Amino acid sequence: MIPEQQFASDNYAGMCPEAMAAIVEANTGHVQSYGDDAWTQRGSDSLRKLFERDCDVFFVFNGTAANSLALASLCYSYNGVICASSSHVETDECGAPEFFSNGSKLLSVTTENGKLTPQSIRAIATSRSDIHFPKPRAVTITQPNELGITYSIEEVRAISAECRTLGLKLHMDGARFANACASLDCSPADASWRAGVDVLCFGGTKNGMAMGEAIIFFDHALAADFDYRCKQAGQLASKMRFLAAPWVGMLESGAWLKNAAHGNACANRFAARIAELAPVTRVFPVQANSVFLHAPAAILEGLHRRGWHFYTFIGGAARFMFAWDADPVWVDRLAEDFAAEVRAFRG
Ligand SMILES: *Cc1c(COP(=O)(O)O)cnc(C)c1O
Repeated sequence: MIPEQQFASDNYAGMCPEAMAAIVEANTGHVQSYGDDAWTQRGSDSLRKLFERDCDVFFVFNGTAANSLALASLCYSYNGVICASSSHVETDECGAPEFFSNGSKLLSVTTENGKLTPQSIRAIATSRSDIHFPKPRAVTITQPNELGITYSIEEVRAISAECRTLGLKLHMDGARFANACASLDCSPADASWRAGVDVLCFGGTKNGMAMGEAIIFFDHALAADFDYRCKQAGQLASKMRFLAAPWVGMLESGAWLKNAAHGNACANRFAARIAELAPVTRVFPVQANSVFLHAPAAILEGLHRRGWHFYTFIGGAARFMFAWDADPVWVDRLAEDFAAEVRAFRG
């Protein structure tokens, strides 16, 4: 049996029908380029409506660019950005945040479950005040984080309060922001600016688009000249309507939340199926669309032999991600194969 679906990454999935339909609809006639078009206006307005705020919106191609450019806009080259040591900006962006900021240094902190806390932020932000250390200027948190763990609204509030006290701006990497909203059952506004987030990178790709992330500034002043930054970085789409239209399709239909809730539900389904499969153990709580497992190498090798792809370098465990289109049939097949490998292992 060759699996027809894989759970190695939520990026293995294709485009959801709502995003696809919007792209097709946008593919009519000639419209103005570089974002001076009705789709871009509508996409931005949809986001302003969703966030219940007159925010500044920029559409870019991917998450690395979104994070890097957003952080660069908050910093001078001599500044520091406090992040978790397991964060995507630190481990998976090939130095792009430092590159696009002309050298702002990521100040990574190792904390429990990859979550920053007010205490850990304060500790590093106040560790040095001399001229030899990059001056802390921003904090970035990932919601849900790279280990599939969410920050509660109260935790985000506590972090933003600490940031304000310390004179730091708060950036949120929301590559899976929709999954967090679904999991926390809260509005995008409550999860972001009302909790003190200054700029959010809202992921569209993992939510069911072909590509595209929205950078959302909740403070107009911080967005000054950001359009130039996007253009210089090669992130200003000339046919912008195709980056913007999927947002219209997914926000107006509600697919953004439906997709995320589905991914989360499949992660929970899988976690429930493997709960009694000692020596396989779940490593982190399931609060979004991922499940991390510890298992003897023989079991993981057996699963690879059965055709399953998955990574073991993230979070130090085998990671399974459930996309917007995860099929419960294939989720269960994966769980069944786990069970078969466990039986073989026990002998
Ligand atoms: C996927 C992801 C991104 C974006 O990655 P790109 O490959 O650059 O689109 C950013 N942050 C997190 C936490 C991610 O999981």
